[in-house]
Amino acid sequence: MTARDSSSHMDCGPHATLLFSDLDGCLLNKSDYDYRPALPALERAVAMGIPVILASSKTAAEMVPIAAELQIPVAPLICENGGIILWRGNGPERREVTGVSRTDILSVLDGLKSEYPFRSFRDLQLEGIMAATSLPADKAALAADRHSTEPLLWDGSPEQLDSFGRALSAAGLSFTRGGRFYHVAGTATKGGALQKVVAAAANADAVKVIAVGDSPIDQSMLDRADYAVCIPAPDGTMNVHAAADRERAASQPGAAGWAEAIHGVLDERHQASIET
Ligand SMILES: [Mg+2]
Repeated sequence: MTARDSSSHMDCGPHATLLFSDLDGCLLNKSDYDYRPALPALERAVAMGIPVILASSKTAAEMVPIAAELQIPVAPLICENGGIILWRGNGPERREVTGVSRTDILSVLDGLKSEYPFRSFRDLQLEGIMAATSLPADKAALAADRHSTEPLLWDGSPEQLDSFGRALSAAGLSFTRGGRFYHVAGTATKGGALQKVVAAAANADAVKVIAVGDSPIDQSMLDRADYAVCIPAPDGTMNVHAAADRERAASQPGAAGWAEAIHGVLDERHQASIET
């Protein structure tokens, strides 16, 4: 990657703050994907000039329309769990593969194909992805537009699965279980991508980071945040954590919890800007 010149640095507004947020279970409710309860707090952050950077397991193709629907000013997107950063909002749009490229993942899978029974997104093709995910064709196509991760369906035994996981790990890849799918990726994290986005900000050393997450995959972002907003699962379980001085736990799940906690943090940032 070429160095980013200073003219392309992201403006973090008068509050010198960046807000990173996971989507599902945070800004969007888990069950009904409703985000309306979050909107007043989101609009307040935008009005304060705070860039809002979405960070999700979703692809860039899936995230661009979601960011537009939420009316978030154009900013970088952290996609595929940190494997991809879609740089935008300052200068031409550019996709950075921070993790292992999908091409390299597929060539490792090619080498394992004769030994292990699995069907990855590439094998399934659009029809198979639609059948396995219940997504309509247009949504399935956005989910299939991957650049740093490859989901797969496992057709073998649990013993073979262990050995398959070890083979992937030996190739430098991670292998995690999602819902129905297993996910093959590099070792990129959301937190690593967050760090790259912060480094690209104007006055990066002075920037305060707010991060919002609800699941262990978000922990790496929360670990790097000055304000770690922890959102509980719908059943009330808290699956993320932070040191007491940084943790801002929401009392409710989903978008309502997002709004409650973000209003509290924005009050703090406003107060800090008065005092300095
Ligand atoms: Mg989530």
